[in-house]
Amino acid sequence: MARLLTSRLLKKAGYEVVAVTDGGAALAALRESYFPVVLTDWEMPVLDGLGVVGAVRGGEWPGYIYTILLTGRDSRESVLAGLEAGADDYLTKPVDEAELLARMKTGWRIAELERRLRVAREEAVRLSLTDALTGVSNRRHLGEALQTEITRARRFSRPLSVVMCDVDHFKRVNDTHGHASGDAVLRCCAALLRETVRLDVDWVARYGGEEFVVVLPETDLERALAVAERLRAAVESLEVRHESRTLRVTASFGVASTGEPWPEGGVGERLLTQADLCLYLSKQQGRNRVTGERLPESSPGERV
Ligand code: GH3
Ligand code: MG
Ligand code: MG
Repeated sequence: MARLLTSRLLKKAGYEVVAVTDGGAALAALRESYFPVVLTDWEMPVLDGLGVVGAVRGGEWPGYIYTILLTGRDSRESVLAGLEAGADDYLTKPVDEAELLARMKTGWRIAELERRLRVAREEAVRLSLTDALTGVSNRRHLGEALQTEITRARRFSRPLSVVMCDVDHFKRVNDTHGHASGDAVLRCCAALLRETVRLDVDWVARYGGEEFVVVLPETDLERALAVAERLRAAVESLEVRHESRTLRVTASFGVASTGEPWPEGGVGERLLTQADLCLYLSKQQGRNRVTGERLPESSPGERV
C-alpha cells in the first residue's frame, strides 16, 4: 500500500517510477535497466533493504545509483548500519511527503552530476585516442589496440596484417595550395581509407603527418595486398574539393602480415617496421604502388 502511495506521489512529481514488491525483484530490475535513484524499504521478505543497498554498492552499473533507505527504525545503530551498508540517505517512517520529495531531488541531482562527469570523462578518453584533424585513431591508440589485435590473433591462430600508407609528394600540396588544403586532403584520405575497409573489423590510425596505418584482422598477406591495392586505387581516384579547387593525390603502400607460425615477441613493432620498409620500397620504385611481405619468423635480434 505504501508502495502504491509513494509511487503515485513520485509520478505526480514528474519521476518515472518502477515499483517492485521485494529486494530480489529490485535487483532484477536494476540488471534490466539503469535507475539513478533507488528508494527501498528496510523490511522486506527474503532480501531486505540493507541487502539491496549492499548489492547495489557491490555491483557494476552503467552509472551511480543513489540509494535511499526507508526505515521504521530510527535508532542511531540502525541508521549507522544503513549508511554503513552503502545507503546514501535514509528516511524514517511515517514518511513526510515534502521531505521525501526534497530528498529524491537531492538524489536525482547527485546522480545527474555523476552522469555528466562520466560523459565528460568518456569524451576525454575518446579524444585522447583520436586524431583531432582526421577523426581516426591516433598513434597512441594504434599502439594499444594493435597489441590487443595481436594477442587475439595469436590466441586463435588467425592471420593479421597492417598496411602503411603515405601520401606521395604531400609537401607539394602544402607548398602549392597552402596548409589548409593539405589538411583537407588528409581528412579526405582518412575518410576514404575508413570507408574502403570492412566496417567494425578493420580500423585506421594516423601514424604521423601524412602517414596512416590500416589494421586488418583475420587477413593474410595475399588478401592484405588486395586490400592495399583497392586503397591505392581509391586514393588515386579521389577528388578533394577545397576552396574551389580540385586536388588529387596518390599514395604509396607497405604491407606486413603475420600468422602461424607466430614469430617471437615484439610483433606489433615488427609489423610496423616491416610495413614501413615495404612502403619505402614502394616509394623507391616510383610511388603510387603497393609492396608487401610476411614477417620473418626470426627473433628481433636476428633481424637485419
Ligand atoms: P614522399 O612522396 O616521399 O612521401 O614526399 P612527401 O612530400 O609526402 O613527404 P615529406 O615527408 O617530405 O613531407 C611531408 C609533409 O607533410 C611535410 C609536412 O609539413 C606535412 N604535414 C605533416 N603533418 C601535416 C598536417 O597535419 N597538415 C598538413 N597540411 N601538412 C602536414
Ligand atoms: Mg611521410
Ligand atoms: Mg609522403
